[in-house]
Amino acid sequence: MRVFTDEELYPVAQECEKTGKHVPQEMIDKMSKNGILRMRLGPGKHLHGHTLMGVMKGEEFDYFHDLIVTQEMVRANARGFQDGNMAGMTISLTAVLQFANNEAWKNKIAEEVFSGRKKICLAITEAFAGSDVAGLRTTAEKTPDGKHYIVNGTKKWITNGVFCDYFVTGVKTDKGLSVILIERQEGVETSAIKTSYSPAAGTTYITFDNVKVPVENLLGVENKGIHVILSNFNHERWFMACAVIRWSRTITEECMKWANQRLVFGKKLMEQPVIRQKYITTISMFMIRRY
Ligand SMILES: Cc1cc2nc3c(=O)[nH]c(=O)nc-3n(C[C@H](O)[C@H](O)[C@H](O)COP(=O)(O)OP(=O)(O)OC[C@H]3O[C@@H](n4cnc5c(N)ncnc54)[C@H](O)[C@@H]3O)c2cc1C
Repeated sequence: MRVFTDEELYPVAQECEKTGKHVPQEMIDKMSKNGILRMRLGPGKHLHGHTLMGVMKGEEFDYFHDLIVTQEMVRANARGFQDGNMAGMTISLTAVLQFANNEAWKNKIAEEVFSGRKKICLAITEAFAGSDVAGLRTTAEKTPDGKHYIVNGTKKWITNGVFCDYFVTGVKTDKGLSVILIERQEGVETSAIKTSYSPAAGTTYITFDNVKVPVENLLGVENKGIHVILSNFNHERWFMACAVIRWSRTITEECMKWANQRLVFGKKLMEQPVIRQKYITTISMFMIRRY
């Protein structure tokens, strides 16, 4: 993973971060070939029978390997690109794998995404509902024949949405929340949102206007979607924690380099007791988080 990040990912990440371009298909194909897309979902059956990075059996992949994959990819040091680089898949395909109600359908979606042919994202947040997930307003009403949902509403801050084919979407059904997989089609509109980090992240505003979705695309149980949403956050929170710890280390390293290089009042910054005190506090915080 270290060699992959240094030689393959880093140059692409830096370029996209600067230009705001989305992750190139060529990079997605390389990650697919090496099993990186699969590894990013953490340990599980989706890895079984696959060789990872040409050296490891998918059955042997555990949470320590998961941590290494996340922390090595973070070393590309491009915050917007990093989210743009399939973070949407990492936080949404998990819900399909865990909660799909039909095995063949689940495998079809998973293969399309793991092969890099299709892109998927998690569409929960709205302008009206972020932390308060239960407050979301997008509706999914069943057609009289019970075969489809008709979805209406909006989603905001959706990572990767602009270039996605599938949207794992939180909706209001008649007696509660539900989660359904919506395929890009007529009535689904996506537009980029300007944010404080690079447009390479593909942060998106989505509109669903009378979108017809087969009831087979329901994930989990109708009206019990809160369980799907909250359970699905588990791996997302874990991989985000792994990433933040690695970023803290980069910041610590960069501060050290700067404090040893910068000359002020006739000496290095690091020779000022107040700076040394600040630096040791930073290191202590980083070590506590790490262990
Ligand atoms: C870069 C980025 C990418 C994102 N990607 C996605 C994505 O891919 N898919 C998706 O669905 N969403 C995504 N989000 C949305 C994200 O999940 C929400 O921003 C988050 O849930 C917070 O919601 P909010 O922004 O509406 O803030 P609010 O819920 O309005 O919260 C504002 C502040 O109030 C605090 N707060 C809220 N409620 C309470 C309370 N009860 N007690 C105390 N404090 C409280 C919060 O901690 C926060 O500091 C993304 C957001 C960002 C910034």
